Amino acid sequence: MESTHDKVPLSAADSQRLDDYYRTLEKESNRFVGYPANARFDYSELHRFLRFPLNNVGDPFVESTYRVNSREFEQEVLHFFARVYHAPEKRYWGYVTSGGTEGNLYGLYLARELLPDGIVYYSEETHYSVSKVLRVLALRNIMIKTQSSGEIDYEDLRETVKIHRDVAPIILANIGTTMKGAVDDVARIREILHDFAVPNFYIHCDAALSGMILPFVKDPQPYDFGAGIDSISVSGHKMIGSPIPCGIVLAMKKNVDRIARSIEYVGSLDTTISGSRNGLSPLFLWAAMRKLGPAGFREMVVGCLKMADYAIERLKAAGIEAWRNNNSVTVVFPRPPVEVIEKWQIAVFREIAHLITMPHVTRTHVDELLEDIVSAKS
Ligand SMILES: *Cc1c(COP(=O)(O)O)cnc(C)c1O
Repeated sequence: MESTHDKVPLSAADSQRLDDYYRTLEKESNRFVGYPANARFDYSELHRFLRFPLNNVGDPFVESTYRVNSREFEQEVLHFFARVYHAPEKRYWGYVTSGGTEGNLYGLYLARELLPDGIVYYSEETHYSVSKVLRVLALRNIMIKTQSSGEIDYEDLRETVKIHRDVAPIILANIGTTMKGAVDDVARIREILHDFAVPNFYIHCDAALSGMILPFVKDPQPYDFGAGIDSISVSGHKMIGSPIPCGIVLAMKKNVDRIARSIEYVGSLDTTISGSRNGLSPLFLWAAMRKLGPAGFREMVVGCLKMADYAIERLKAAGIEAWRNNNSVTVVFPRPPVEVIEKWQIAVFREIAHLITMPHVTRTHVDELLEDIVSAKS
């Protein structure tokens, strides 16, 4: 057949258009310092897999009759992260998601199935994906104040949980808030629940960015399965870097089985949120994991933290009040003039802005950004 699109080339005009678009992307990705996405990776060894209709439809641990899949690689990625987050061996479950949002949806869905009448507690500076998820799941929820660092206000949490002692708490802990990279201390949260002798509770961690930082620093705040969480969502395209947004969600198998059973009842092991799932993302994550491993990830994270300190030092030297939270690569500073925001794709929230020193951010980027801030002001 002549009209299948593997046979028909793009027209000269369309090819030209793609060439122009390519150059725009090259330019824009070189001034990309405001968002937590690593723009530095090389997956050229994987380009040939674009030829296949890869699809990891359904459960990553249950072989599908759709055999053009990358389940084997997905499982290795999940095992790697399960070890990193101290999940109990063979007692966890998870999958490669389309990003941090899907992982939050999955974690809170699980929480709701286990504690249908529970109340979700989450801080003021929680990512917008969570309020959307709460609406989707129609979960009762209460917003808790934050401290100026962006970390949850434990006293407000304590008082609020106390008032609702008769209702099971579902805690959405931020492991790296979007604007300030603040980490909620899971051990302190558990202490509060313990003080009120709460029998049933659920802790989900939104670890979109810092889930790839904390495992690789010397003094991580308590945040993982070792600290008693029930599930965690991490983005794959943030610190690791991926041409396709993706993420990882991990949960305790005993909890997952309780909802999987009720789905088996309708005759399926449809355990994931989306049905068809792309099989390329697991390959990217697998390649990054195999190339870098824990030692490589550690080196990458240390480099990012150093670059964050360099940025703070330079900004402060120029009289700009810049700071970061412990174990965070998010450098917070006062909102700069609009031309700087646009040129450098800086994310802003009210009076503050941030620069995130992801692996592709160099001293040159920091220096040029600073020059622009200073000259825009004068
Ligand atoms: C980016 C981010 C998310 C959402 O992740 P996506 O991969 O964009 O869906 C959720 N929470 C936090 C804290 C984030 O930084």
